[in-house]
Amino acid sequence: MRSPSFVEALAVGSLITPTAWAATIPTESYSPSGNNVSVHLDGFPHPNPTKSYWQDPPHRITNLRSTPDLPTDQLFDYVIIGSGVTGAATAFKLLSRNPDLSVLMLEARTAASGASGRNGGHCKTGGYKKIKQWVDLYGEDEALKIGKLEQDCVSDVRDFVHRYNVSSGWRDVETADLYYTQDEFEKAAAVVEFQDELRRRRPDHAPQNNARTVFRGQEARDHWRWPEISGAVTYAGHTQNPYLTVCAMLELSLEKGLNLQTNTMALQLTQVSGPSDTKWEVKTDRGTVKGSKVVLATNGFTPALHPGFAATRFLEPVRNQATAVRPAADTSQNPVFRRSQGYSDFPGASGDYVTVRQPGDAGAGTVVYGGGQGLSPTGERNLTDDSVVDGRIAAYLRGVGRVTYGHRHWGEAAAAPAADWTGIVCRTPDGLPVVGAVPREAGLWAAVCMNGHGMAWAFRSAEALVEMMVEGAAPAWFPEPFRADRAWKGGRH
Ligand SMILES: Cc1cc2nc3c(=O)[nH]c(=O)nc-3n(C[C@H](O)[C@H](O)[C@H](O)COP(=O)(O)OP(=O)(O)OC[C@H]3O[C@@H](n4cnc5c(N)ncnc54)[C@H](O)[C@@H]3O)c2cc1C
Repeated sequence: MRSPSFVEALAVGSLITPTAWAATIPTESYSPSGNNVSVHLDGFPHPNPTKSYWQDPPHRITNLRSTPDLPTDQLFDYVIIGSGVTGAATAFKLLSRNPDLSVLMLEARTAASGASGRNGGHCKTGGYKKIKQWVDLYGEDEALKIGKLEQDCVSDVRDFVHRYNVSSGWRDVETADLYYTQDEFEKAAAVVEFQDELRRRRPDHAPQNNARTVFRGQEARDHWRWPEISGAVTYAGHTQNPYLTVCAMLELSLEKGLNLQTNTMALQLTQVSGPSDTKWEVKTDRGTVKGSKVVLATNGFTPALHPGFAATRFLEPVRNQATAVRPAADTSQNPVFRRSQGYSDFPGASGDYVTVRQPGDAGAGTVVYGGGQGLSPTGERNLTDDSVVDGRIAAYLRGVGRVTYGHRHWGEAAAAPAADWTGIVCRTPDGLPVVGAVPREAGLWAAVCMNGHGMAWAFRSAEALVEMMVEGAAPAWFPEPFRADRAWKGGRH
């Protein structure tokens, strides 16, 4: 019997299997934004990125320059390069400790225009599923520090949003890691047993408030109501408009004296040694600024700016893609859309994830699907151009909801697309962030490469970085495997 075409697969009322559906995805690529015509310095942020769903409408600080002219005469205590969650949290934490500090932030494009303004909207402890791997690699103490940092980071972001009354649609939701193959599900279930045992045996060190529940087979399908899954691991998660959360961090830092210069690209870093101390000059496309300390919060664009990091080949930029769609069915009363999820072992998927705008949010009922890199022959690796989207991935992300949720929940007709966008993340071979002093370059610091998980790594990584810069040592809770100098040691900490 003939397989359904892609369009038929989306329109037909019957349920088709994930594998049959994936085989129908068209292979041609297209660029709906069509805006990749501006000059793009290789590896640096593209001047004309796609617009994410979250960035519409743009925030009031989007093009802010705190002073109309670039302050080239002043020696700043800190120059932070990058206005994503990492740079914003660093500025916020520095100025919260000491409002007398002078802090300058350079941002190549608009405020929070990197991955932080264009992600999937999840803030959750999804990394903790790697705990067994971390124990094997780093020992139990360091592995637990990584797990604890992730949990504390998510809690800190939640507390920040509540404390400052940030209107970014923050929601506490039930989330799940979903599995399509029995093999992957059984591995995940074994990890949950491992986590439970650690929590009992090391109550003072293991994260305590992210308990997992395992659902198998039909029990999983009944609970989660996704028709094809083999199993589910559920826990507490959060969804938000990440762009608005990060812009709030920037605005609060501005109130404390941050000088933000958007649309200002850092091009070169030069260490200048004086008689008593060292300072840095940062050449930009608008002039040269000076800082006693410079912080790289430049994520996947770091190797372009810092040849030393580039030479380590430890940081790899990877392009991620997401789509916002409105299902044809009315999702407002359907509890299946009150949750979020992630899954990997589905045809075309590679760490895919789904969040939903909740009743009361702008765009309520809109579903954000991210992932699909499994459809790209290169896995979208080593790409820094977020001005275009991959057509195959867009088609997949727009249509996959009908298969994953099932047509009864999703509706019979195709969903209406609201936006397709890309963003650049940064990966390391060990999957962990790179945080700390840049070796042999006094005064140069980095918090980069959050491995596509920045909402759960960055706020706490910034806290640790600030403590290192201000106190001269990392806090006791900081995991050694995050240390920046491992990039120069082939990944060993
Ligand atoms: C599609 C997508 C979905 C994602 N989904 C999730 C998710 O659901 N949950 C989650 O936790 N994480 C997710 N991530 C990852 C998360 O967004 C990132 O880990 C996080 O935002 C990284 O924050 P950052 O501040 O380190 O980097 P960025 O937000 O990328 O900020 C770096 C900034 O530095 C600027 N910059 C770089 N070089 C220069 C220069 N030379 N001069 C001046 N400025 C410069 C850039 O323009 C950019 O604004 C996703 C990412 C993408 C792209």
